[in-house]
This record gives sequence, structure tokens and C-alpha cells, in this order.
Amino acid sequence: MMNVRTRFAPSPTGFIHLGNVWVAFLNWLYTRQHQGELVLRIEDIDQTRSRKEYAQALMEDLDWLGLDWDEGPGGNYAYGSTVQSERLSLYRRCVEKWKQEGRVYPCYCTRARIHKISSAPHRGETLPVYDGHCRNLTNEQRKRQERQPSWRIRIEKETEESFHDLLRGDATQRLKPCEDDFVVMRADGQIAYQLAVSCDDGAMGITHVFRGEDLFSSTFYQIAILKELGYPLPVYAHLPLLMDQEGNRLSKRQHGITIRDMRAAGITAEEIIGKLLFWAGALPAPEPLSATYAAKNIPFSDCRNLKQKSIIVR
Ligand code: GLU
Ligand code: ZN
Repeated sequence: MMNVRTRFAPSPTGFIHLGNVWVAFLNWLYTRQHQGELVLRIEDIDQTRSRKEYAQALMEDLDWLGLDWDEGPGGNYAYGSTVQSERLSLYRRCVEKWKQEGRVYPCYCTRARIHKISSAPHRGETLPVYDGHCRNLTNEQRKRQERQPSWRIRIEKETEESFHDLLRGDATQRLKPCEDDFVVMRADGQIAYQLAVSCDDGAMGITHVFRGEDLFSSTFYQIAILKELGYPLPVYAHLPLLMDQEGNRLSKRQHGITIRDMRAAGITAEEIIGKLLFWAGALPAPEPLSATYAAKNIPFSDCRNLKQKSIIVR
């Protein structure tokens, strides 16, 4: 059997809530049932929004829920730090190399300009679309620019990127020159999510990526990077989003759904695990169960609702 390595990759920008724990738990369940290794990766490259306290709090919350991890803060570090802010040199080296090779080019467009050209929906999503404005600037033209540029991957030719999603089946999308030349480093030097995630999934030897459906279309960009870096592609499984009755995503802005709030209200870890399993379709009704019990007795394949795009939970 293939050695399973998964990751839970929260951004520590608030207390974790049911939506985060849903993803964490399913990663954990799959990993434990396959004798795999779960990496806890702290995605804190956005230093303006990330807080150490939230990273600390989310580890305590996972502990309280009985969800353990094999690598990451507090575990061991077989592949080096799993905190993204401690891995910046890796991402920067990658961008530097691509600069040398001409795989990325500087883009001097203002935010306002980008906003204007990309506000039209693109394939039903709101991923930024570019028009190639800075793609063919000469060195002379570049020298005359006054702003710091962001750096975009140059998609050389129209390419079809495909992957097999464990839950959704085969997925294909064409990446087009200009339109899909995506940013890997921002003008202020901040590494883009797509780059950091791909570098890490590759370098950490991740074999299975379980994450929310909202990241589905990012996968095509991440695959392009992984291939560029010469890494094998992980298996992807995009999980349904948890929604309220009105069809809004459960998010940290809503009260009562952070694990902190629920603990304060006297809800037990077992009740939460039981609810997650019920939503996943593995139990006919919510009943309190420990994570350890679930790992032993409830096979991942019993989670019959995971093929849905969203699950209404409250
Ligand atoms: N850090 C991302 C988030 O909190 C998840 C990244 C991923 O799973 O690829 O939404
Ligand atoms: Zn530009």
C-alpha cells in the first residue's frame, strides 16, 4: 500500500470553527485508517492577518478534539519546519530561479487596473484573469517603471491540466497564456498562496490533499507548479462546504461555531465528532463518539455525503 501523507493547513487568522474542523477531521480519519502521517502546516504567510495566538489556540482545539498530528509544531519535523513563515527562503529561491530562467515576468499593473480587467466572472469563478499587459515589456520599458512589480508565471502555451478527484472524478481545465499567467510573488514580496502551497505539498511529500470545495479551481494552478518543480501529483479530494439554512458558508464571522464558543457552551468533543460523522453521512443520527472510536470503527468510505458540493448543517 502506498504510504499516505496528508496535511491540514489552516491559516491562523482566527479561532477555528466547525468548517475547519470538518476538513481537519476528515484528513485525520483517512490518515489514521491508512496508517499514514498527518502534517499540521501553519499557513501564516499573510503576516498582517496571522497571529501566533491563533496558531497556538488551534493546536489546543485539535488536541481537545482528540485529533493528533505526526509532523508540525509540537510534533516532529521530519521535513523541516511546517510553519510557512519559517519557510520563506524556500519559496523565494523558487521565484529567483524562475526569474533567471524567464519562467516568471514582472507585472507593474496597479491593483485598480487588475481589478478592472478581472472583475468579470471567469469560468464561473472569481479567480483573477490577466490580459498579458506586462508580458512582453522590453528591458528598457521595465527599467522605466517606478513601482515594485509582482511576478507572474508565464504560461508558455495553452495546456490542459487534469486531475482525478477522489470524490468528484476527473477534472480538466485549460490554462491559457496571458489569461492564466498567475501571480507567484506580490509586489510587497509576499509569496502567493498558490506557490507556497505547491512548494510545500511537493517538498513535504504529501500524497493526499483533502480540502474544501472552494479551492477546487486553485488545484489546476497548483498542479502546474508541482509539475514545473518536478514533484509527483498528490491525490486530491475536494470536500463539500458546510452551509447554513440560508446557503451561507459557516465562517468564523458567525457566532457560536468556533470550537472555543462551543467548549464554553458545554458542548463536548465527542458531540462535535458525532455531528461531523452525521453530516458526512456515516451515522444515521448524531451521537457522541470519540475520535479514537471513529478511527477504529467508522471507515472513511462510510462518509457517503462527501460527493455533494455542500452540506446544510444548521
Ligand atoms: N490555508 C488554506 C485555508 O485556510 C488552506 C490551503 C489548502 O488546503 O490548500 O483555507
Ligand atoms: Zn501587468
